[in-house]
Amino acid sequence: MSNEFDFIEKIRQRAAGGSDTVPDLRLGIGDDTAILGEETGRETLITVDLLVEEIDFRLDYAIPGWLGHKTLAVSLSDIAAMGGNPRFALLSLGIPPRLIPRQPDDERSHFWEEFFDGYFGLAHRHGVSLIGGDISATPDRLSIDSIVLGHCRRGAAIRRNGARVGEAIYLTGEVGAAASGLHLLLAGQRANPAERSPVQEAIRAQLAPQPRVEMGRALGRSGLVSAMIDVSDGLAQDLGHLCAESRVGALINLRQIPVCASLDLLGLESGERFTLAVSGGEDFELLFTAPPEVEQQLRKMAGPSLRLSRIGTIVEGAADQSPIMLEGDGPLRPLAIHGHNHFAGGSR
Ligand code: ADP
Ligand code: MG
Repeated sequence: MSNEFDFIEKIRQRAAGGSDTVPDLRLGIGDDTAILGEETGRETLITVDLLVEEIDFRLDYAIPGWLGHKTLAVSLSDIAAMGGNPRFALLSLGIPPRLIPRQPDDERSHFWEEFFDGYFGLAHRHGVSLIGGDISATPDRLSIDSIVLGHCRRGAAIRRNGARVGEAIYLTGEVGAAASGLHLLLAGQRANPAERSPVQEAIRAQLAPQPRVEMGRALGRSGLVSAMIDVSDGLAQDLGHLCAESRVGALINLRQIPVCASLDLLGLESGERFTLAVSGGEDFELLFTAPPEVEQQLRKMAGPSLRLSRIGTIVEGAADQSPIMLEGDGPLRPLAIHGHNHFAGGSR
């Protein structure tokens, strides 16, 4: 591969379908812009995620295919958290010299082939088409900018600000898996995609998370959910965001929080284990509120394969205390909110 245009051409060949096969896509990769068709009664959701090497991921423990997968997964999770249906993606890459392909079969070309295997694997699974992007070089670190567009019925997007006092709080899946995976990686364990073990499941949760695309879409269509957010910065912090936007508080039952068993691999005492479960980020589960009467319908939507936990209740917010109070195992107490924060020097 000799230049940027060959690189783009490869991506173009792999991008799903053409404008003749994808609904609403008038023009994809290859021109100055893509063209999308409009439809009345529908709204477009747009999200972007910036992933920077050494901050958001590290290549020394990355699996290229999983990095491609995660690049798209984090943005799909945002669309899911709005109750939307993801449709189109754009991808901009800032590539350092050590990752620029020089020859068709060199190690760097393989890196990108695997990266796009992961990216397009997830895109195809969810009916998402890559319609454009950009490429530049960076002096040192790989930088990845992922954009996803999705649709929802007009007015149907589920925002963070709709939670009401008395509603129940639900969480899909479990929390803590990605955080334990990161701990294991930092302790020197490495991913082995061929192996299935608790350690590898945790590492996979960190490096190749599964966004809750179907559940998000179903919740959006149902009209039953009043507020939603995806858990990317830690359960405590993201619930804090939802409470702040909705101007309410939350009462959480400690025993109902679905803590991933992989945290047991870290040999922590139970307090540390719990803190990591509620403050470790990147689980990409959906956290949402709904009137308790609709619980059976929510469970039906989750189906047998997706765990759904009712972890608490929305209460009046009080100015003088943490928005999140914890009950179960001892006296009522505030939940300290720690989570991921890039400006605090956070890295993953
Ligand atoms: P421009 O000069 O208009 O930026 P480019 O040569 O960068 O055009 O891109 C040509 C076409 O390839 C455009 O349709 C653009 O969206 C697409 N493209 C460029 N980089 C990527 C990428 N990383 N992923 C997907 N499409 C890309
Ligand atoms: Mg360009």
